[in-house]
Amino acid sequence: MTISADPLETLRSVYGYAAFRGLQERVVEAALAGKDSLVLMPTGGGKSICYQIPMLVRPGAGLVVSPLIALMQDQVTALREFGVRAEFLNSTLAFNRQRNILRRLRGGEVDILYVAPERLLQERTLAELAAVSISLIAIDEAHCVSQWGHDFRVDYLALDRLARAFPGVPRMALTATADLRTRTEIVARLALVEPVRFVASFDRPNVRYRVAPKADTRRQLDTFLADHSGEAGIVYCLTRRKVEAVAERLQDAGYDALPYHAGLPASVRTANQDRFLREDGTIVVATIAFGMGIDKPDVRFVVHLDLPKSMEGYYQETGRAGRDGAPAETLMLYGLQDVVQVRQMVDDSEADEARKRIERAKLDTLLGWCEITRCRRRALLDYFGEEMAEDCGNCDVCLTPPDTWDATVAAQKLLSCAFRTGQRFGAMHLLDVLMGKSTDKVAQHRHDRLPTWGIGKELDTRGWRSVLRQLVVQGYLEADPERFNALRLTDRARPLLRGEQTLVLRRDPVATGKRKRRPERTGPADRNIPPGSEDLWDELRACRRRLAKEAGVPPYVVFHDSTLRDMLHKRPATPSDMLEVSGVGQTKLERYGNAFLAVLNASRSPGP
Ligand code: ADP
Ligand code: ZN
Repeated sequence: MTISADPLETLRSVYGYAAFRGLQERVVEAALAGKDSLVLMPTGGGKSICYQIPMLVRPGAGLVVSPLIALMQDQVTALREFGVRAEFLNSTLAFNRQRNILRRLRGGEVDILYVAPERLLQERTLAELAAVSISLIAIDEAHCVSQWGHDFRVDYLALDRLARAFPGVPRMALTATADLRTRTEIVARLALVEPVRFVASFDRPNVRYRVAPKADTRRQLDTFLADHSGEAGIVYCLTRRKVEAVAERLQDAGYDALPYHAGLPASVRTANQDRFLREDGTIVVATIAFGMGIDKPDVRFVVHLDLPKSMEGYYQETGRAGRDGAPAETLMLYGLQDVVQVRQMVDDSEADEARKRIERAKLDTLLGWCEITRCRRRALLDYFGEEMAEDCGNCDVCLTPPDTWDATVAAQKLLSCAFRTGQRFGAMHLLDVLMGKSTDKVAQHRHDRLPTWGIGKELDTRGWRSVLRQLVVQGYLEADPERFNALRLTDRARPLLRGEQTLVLRRDPVATGKRKRRPERTGPADRNIPPGSEDLWDELRACRRRLAKEAGVPPYVVFHDSTLRDMLHKRPATPSDMLEVSGVGQTKLERYGNAFLAVLNASRSPGP
C-alpha cells in the first residue's frame, strides 16, 4: 500500500475515517513539525490516531513505548488489518524473530514498532536502533512515570534517556490520567522539550453514570444485567474471593461470565482475557488487576460492586465502557460496610503516613461524590478541572433527581445514641437501641433504660442505615477498627448535636420491589439501528464473526460496531460505495469488502 504524505488523505485511505476528531489534527501537526507534545485524552478519545498518522506520514519507523506486553500482539494485529506494517519487540519473541524485525527496521520496511520500555532501553537495542531512521517516539500510558500514581512502572523512570539516545526525534507522551500533578511529572521525568500541551475534554457523553446505595446487591446486579443481555461488560469486585463467588453465581444464572484476578494462574488469566476480547457478549468479573490497556471498543457496561479507591480509579475503570462512542452504562453500588472496609484498608496499608493522607483524602472525595444531589457528570468533570455549562441528562441524578430531607433531628438522635452508649458499639446495636428492639445485648447493657431507647421509630432499618452511612461518609461518626468498628463521634458532631447546624441528607432510592420504569433504555433494544433492519444487522454481525474466526482476530478488529451500523445506514452496493463507510479503508475493503457487499446485496433482492 502506498501511504500519502498528507495526513488527512492517510486517515481516509488507511483507516477509512472521514475526518479528524477533536484535537487529533493539531496533535498530528505538532508532531509533523517535529515538536514534543503531551496529549491528555480520555479513554476512547482517539489517542492512537494522534501518533500513528505522523508515523505513517513521516519517513522512518515510529516507536511506540507501551507497558503492556500482553496487548502488543493485539495492537499490532489490528494495525496490520489496516495494512500498516507494524511489529513489536519484547521478551516473548524468539531470537530469530527479533533479528528479523531489526533487519526489516534497518531496511525501512517497518512503519510502527511497539516496544516495552525495559526492552527499548537495553544497550543492545539502543545500539541497534541507532542505525534506524526514527520518525516519532510515542510514550503511551505516560502516567506510569508518576510515582504517586496508581500505575507506577519503575522502567518508565529511565525513559528520559530517549532524549539523548534519539536527538532530534520528536516525542509524544499520551495518557488518560488528567490531574495537574501527573501532567507536570510526565513532562519533567520524560525530559520533554518545550512540549505542546493538548488537553481534550474528559467528558464521555455516551457513558451513563449510576451510583446507588447497596440494598439487595444481588437483585440490583440482576436488574442491571437484564438490560444488557448479550453485551460485553466488566464487573469489578474488591477481593479475589468475591470475584470467584460472583462469577460463579452469574455462570449459574446462565451468563457467559469469567473470573479474573491476580491469584489465578497466568494461563487462565490470559485465556479469560482472550475470550473477553474475542467473543461477543462476555462478562468479566474482576479485581482492578483487570483492564489496563484493554482497548476493546464495545464494552457496553462497567459495574462496581465495591468502592474504587479514588475518583481517578473510578473514572479510569468506567472509562473502559463505550470506547466506540455508542451508549454504555455504568453502575456503582456502595454501602456503610464498604466505607468502613476501604478506609481500613488505607489505614492498614504499608504506605507511609504522607501517602495514607493522600489516599484518605481521595477516598473521602469519592464518597462525597457518591452522595451528591447534583449532576454527577458535572461534579466528576469539575474534579478533573473541567467546567460543564449544563447538567448532563445522562446520569442517575439527572434522570431521577434524588429527594433530600432535613435530617437534623434524626442525626441528633443517632449521634446522641452513640454517645449515650459509650461510643463502644457498632451500627447494628445502635440501631436496635434507637428503634427500641429488645435484644440480649440491649438487656445485658441495660440500654433500654437510656433516654435514647426507642426514640427512633420514625424510620425503618433501611432509613437509619442511610442516615448512618451518610454521617460516616460526611465524617460526623467514625468506625474504630481496634474495637470492632465501634462508632464514635468526631469533632464535627458537636455543632450538629448542639443544634448550631442543620443537616440535609439524600433519601436513598427504593431499589427493590416495584421497579420504576426506566426513562430510556440502553439495552439491546436500542442499538441505534434503523427500524426494520434487525435481521440485516444480525447477518452483518454473523459475517463479521465468520471472517474474524478465519483471520484469527477479534470481531472488532475486522470492523467496529459503528462501521456495521454505518453500513446499515448507507447500504453500499459497490466497492466504491463501501469506501464511503466510516472505518473502511483500502486494505479492509480489499480483505472484507466483498463479503459484506454480498450480505448487503442479498438483502436487497426481493425474497422468494
Ligand atoms: P484511546 O487510545 O484514546 O482510548 P482509540 O485510539 O482506541 O482511543 O480510539 C477510540 C475509538 O475511536 C476507536 O474505535 C477508533 O477507531 C475511533 N476513532 C479514533 N479516531 C477517529 C476518527 N477520526 N474518526 C472515526 N473514528 C475514530
Ligand atoms: Zn447529570
